[in-house]
Amino acid sequence: MIAAADFNITKAERSKLNDINLENIPFGKFFSDHMLEVDYEDGEWKTVEIKPYQPLLMEPSMAAIHYGQAIFEGIKAYKNAAGEAAIFRPLDNFKRFNISAERMQMPTVPEEIFMEGMKMLVELDKNWIPAKEDHSLYIRPFMFSTDEMIGVRPSEKYKFMIILSPTGPYYSTPMRIYVEEQYVRAVPGGVGYAKAAGNYGAAMFATAEAKKKGYDQVLWTDAYEHKYVQECGTMNVFFIIGNTAITPDLQAGTILAGVTRDSTITILKEMGFNVEERQLSIDDVMDAYKAGLLYEVFGTGTAATVSYIKELRYKDFTMTFDVAHWKTAPELKKRFNDIRYGKTPDNNNWMYKI
Ligand SMILES: *Cc1c(COP(=O)(O)O)cnc(C)c1O
Repeated sequence: MIAAADFNITKAERSKLNDINLENIPFGKFFSDHMLEVDYEDGEWKTVEIKPYQPLLMEPSMAAIHYGQAIFEGIKAYKNAAGEAAIFRPLDNFKRFNISAERMQMPTVPEEIFMEGMKMLVELDKNWIPAKEDHSLYIRPFMFSTDEMIGVRPSEKYKFMIILSPTGPYYSTPMRIYVEEQYVRAVPGGVGYAKAAGNYGAAMFATAEAKKKGYDQVLWTDAYEHKYVQECGTMNVFFIIGNTAITPDLQAGTILAGVTRDSTITILKEMGFNVEERQLSIDDVMDAYKAGLLYEVFGTGTAATVSYIKELRYKDFTMTFDVAHWKTAPELKKRFNDIRYGKTPDNNNWMYKI
């Protein structure tokens, strides 16, 4: 067993908060006063350092930038009207982080380091959580290999870090989506279920091609037949067909098990929907559309929570949606916000108080 972790806190002399207006800040551009950093060496995690946010010094031979043993998470902390701070379902992200770590042949991070460390860091930078609706503090835990050696093999040294970024309203305008039939995001047996850095780099070309055609994002399809829907960009995807909500199942390991996806399933059930996690072909999506039964299509993820899809293009066929008249996705958004900002009882125990 791993001994209780040591934590060492060095406080910043001055808060950068004095120079920043927390309203209307762009996503992911500003970082709080402190960060968490801990090294894995000789088979064990060393002292956890919480210290002023600062650049890293690295050797050009550092393994992660050559062979990509790198994973991350995305979590949000919110402040309610009473000024109390809480993090949304961080234990689920912790578990997923270690699933990603195992797939990438990296060491797992002990719960104490991930959870207590995150709590201490957020507590220290609590003033960075904007106290306004649709605002939050984005928490970015990540780990990468740090061997200084350019041989292809699992690294012996790793670094786990957490940085914090205040975020304003993430206005995601309804998206135009291109159903991708050439490039793939994930294959069975691959790393699609892991939040591995390489997955995002690998997706950028296809996304750029879709943008050239005038679309915002791609709807990924399965690698073998390009027939079954998978994810929308870096979000999970839901289709409301009649009184049923359908989202792709996780069995093949090609879908990232989103915490927002899981929460959406729970809330949709509470709203009275039948929720089906199963394979869904694009042909079935088109049939439902033609029958007038495909009411809503949306993506889910921590960054935007719920993103509406107003247009879906498959080959020469275009499906359009009148998002202004939607009922489900807006209600879902509202329920998420009510839970996060403490306006409704947190019956599912999703808010982790700090
Ligand atoms: C992070 C991510 C999601 C959404 O997961 P959440 O836990 O809801 O933020 C969905 N798909 C991909 C590919 C992702 O990387």
